Amino acid sequence: ALGYHKVVKENRNLYNMVQDLKGNIRVYCRIRPAFNSEAKNVIDFTGEDGSVVVSDPLKPHKDGRKVFQFNRVFGPIATQDEVFKDTQPLIRSVMDGYNVCIFAYGQTGSGKTHTMCGPSGGSRKELGINYLALNDLFLLSNRRKDITNKLEIRSCTGDDGLSVPQATMHPVKSTADVLHLMKLGEVNRAVSSTAINDQSSRSHSILTVHIHGKDVSGSALRSCLHLVDLAGSERVDKSEVTGDALKEAQYINKSLSCLGDVITALAQKSSYIPYRNSKLTLLLQTSLGGNAKTLMFAHVSPEREYLGETISTLKFAQRVSTIELGAACTNKESREVMQLKEQIDSLKKVLANRE
Ligand code: ADP
Ligand code: MG
Repeated sequence: ALGYHKVVKENRNLYNMVQDLKGNIRVYCRIRPAFNSEAKNVIDFTGEDGSVVVSDPLKPHKDGRKVFQFNRVFGPIATQDEVFKDTQPLIRSVMDGYNVCIFAYGQTGSGKTHTMCGPSGGSRKELGINYLALNDLFLLSNRRKDITNKLEIRSCTGDDGLSVPQATMHPVKSTADVLHLMKLGEVNRAVSSTAINDQSSRSHSILTVHIHGKDVSGSALRSCLHLVDLAGSERVDKSEVTGDALKEAQYINKSLSCLGDVITALAQKSSYIPYRNSKLTLLLQTSLGGNAKTLMFAHVSPEREYLGETISTLKFAQRVSTIELGAACTNKESREVMQLKEQIDSLKKVLANRE
């Protein structure tokens, strides 16, 4: 058994190395703990290594078993730190000039916000990727004395992404500044109750970190990190929302289905990728396109009543994992280009003052 595990582990490392060469999209699956441990109807996820086996307890024969393969699977007892540990190298690569996008996908109540922000009670013990990532980037930036990295935060919420009128850019000096901004964002976030979960978030929440710095040769490094907590992916009819809430849900589902279309087009290596069909895909274009590193967290609930949604999330995630893009590359600008841009900026200022 030991030998077997070793082989599996080595295979995984090899797999990750190949992923590194492809430099693009990886998919992690996270299964949240069951709310009621007594419930008999819990789906049995007994995957080895990166696989998830979903077996429907009501269909114990072969038809009820489905197997999915991902880069990594976090079971119900995985801690926030474990999840972060496997995400950290990717996040750190923004400091080397890569664009990075991490997005949490799944139905309402499957644990997206738990992974990205932390538990709803706001326990300081189980802070999520947003906090841990920012903390790590500040640490790294303070440690790299040779590079003048300046962190700037652009925090925006809502489906509108970059063009959201209320979106604001805030320079930040510490993780505490960021936490404060994130709290403000949380308050602004449209939350309305549905039949599925009375804390259902039907808005996307996007935290973008812009990194400006210089490497040792003096070239400018510009990169960004998108941390995205998507709206619930469940079908609208199930959540029994009506009126304005329904319109909002449909609108948001539309942007999620546009995301699906983009993923499909990328997976099929289509010559036309419909990024422009929604603000969400437009915003994520640089992350889902060529040179970025993207990580999707596919979140699923263990309860049997959500089997349909669970399977559809896993199928979507499987499709995302088949996307092959070129190797990721950094955004470097030569010193000459940088100086020219600075000249343009100062000339623009001169012009503006004349008017
Ligand atoms: P979503 O954002 O997908 O709607 P949440 O993150 O709000 O879901 O999770 C729903 C509930 O389950 C919350 O009370 C959350 O604290 C809890 N939960 C989710 N994932 C985990 C986990 N891995 N460990 C412990 N509790 C979790
Ligand atoms: Mg949420």
